[in-house]
Amino acid sequence: MKTILFNLNDKELEQFITDLGQPRFRAKQIREWLNRGAPDFGVMKNIPEDLRNKLSEIAETLPVKIVKKLESSDNQTTKFLLELTDGEQIECVLMRTTYGNSVCVSSQAGCAMGCKFCASTLLGLKRNLTVNEMYAQVLTAQWELRGDRLRDIRPNGDANNGDVSHIVVMGTGEPLQNTENVIGFLERANGELNISWRRITVSTCGIVPGINELNKWGRPINLAISLHAPTDELRGQIMPINNRYKLNEVLDAAFAFSDTHNRQLMIEYILLGKYDKNGSVVIYNASAEHAEKLSNLLHNHNVMVNLIPWNCVDERDFASISGNAVHRFQDILIKNGIHTRIRRERGADIGSACGQLRLKNAKGNR
Ligand code: SAH
Repeated sequence: MKTILFNLNDKELEQFITDLGQPRFRAKQIREWLNRGAPDFGVMKNIPEDLRNKLSEIAETLPVKIVKKLESSDNQTTKFLLELTDGEQIECVLMRTTYGNSVCVSSQAGCAMGCKFCASTLLGLKRNLTVNEMYAQVLTAQWELRGDRLRDIRPNGDANNGDVSHIVVMGTGEPLQNTENVIGFLERANGELNISWRRITVSTCGIVPGINELNKWGRPINLAISLHAPTDELRGQIMPINNRYKLNEVLDAAFAFSDTHNRQLMIEYILLGKYDKNGSVVIYNASAEHAEKLSNLLHNHNVMVNLIPWNCVDERDFASISGNAVHRFQDILIKNGIHTRIRRERGADIGSACGQLRLKNAKGNR
């Protein structure tokens, strides 16, 4: 098996390079390339060609390899399908926005949560990702933005300087089933890439002990809760985790987190419809009554409700609802004094929603 150079510490890398009969300073040069996210050895211009060829035979740069790269038609979103060393595949998305460059990172290969509207969980959980596997997703996006130009680290980062400025742990997987590695990854992203805590978001389906653990960790990141329904009954139907941790417990833990860190809590709410017998769409979780109930749950708390149009997953038995229905739902929240916005669909044309690309590829390979 090829050695992943990014996984070696400085001493090990030096040993690896000197074992090839090379001078020590080459290890330092290679480390700089690795830290920029170099996807292969071919790009390492200051390394002699015969060494680059040798390295390509026996080693890899990063613990993630690009299998596919898709660009949305507006060029604002790039989606990567990445392969890990054991052949598992994960997704990672780079979103260029007016406020900066955001990377959506996967925390697991697959997912065990079983949410009924989601593609990521359809093949079950394969395994947790390591700190390096999460960090390398950010480096892959960083390379896409900057290539071999050095990263421009400024104090208190100018979000639009062409670097990765924001991280959302909202890709495949449940981060709070892999809390220790997620924390290790974020510590490193903050320390080495200078990404401030306030530009980092962790999204969870509501694992209460994990939320408490984040609270104890003490970093002022943003927390997002995938709520998707305003009653235990409805939520239990679409999110099995609700049978373990009830709505009120989840919200109490989340409010405690946002109060401690003085952060606005993000609530994610996918607007779902279903098909009736005649094939027409009926509202599932987005009626006026649902909006009132949701308002009651969140009233008097510092929250932002992100309304998410459902990205169609063929295998899933839901339907998108009309723009009018989305606005009617939003208007009730606004009337009740709840901050809300409708999430712009990014990269829908490249299957950027939640595990769709990985799923398609896994099927194609069968
Ligand atoms: N497990 C974590 C993070 C990954 S999911 C969590 O549940 O928050 C990231 C977000 O995408 C969640 O809010 C999830 O519910 C949502 N999502 C999943 N499938 C979707 C789909 N088909 N369309 C729109 N959003 C979806």
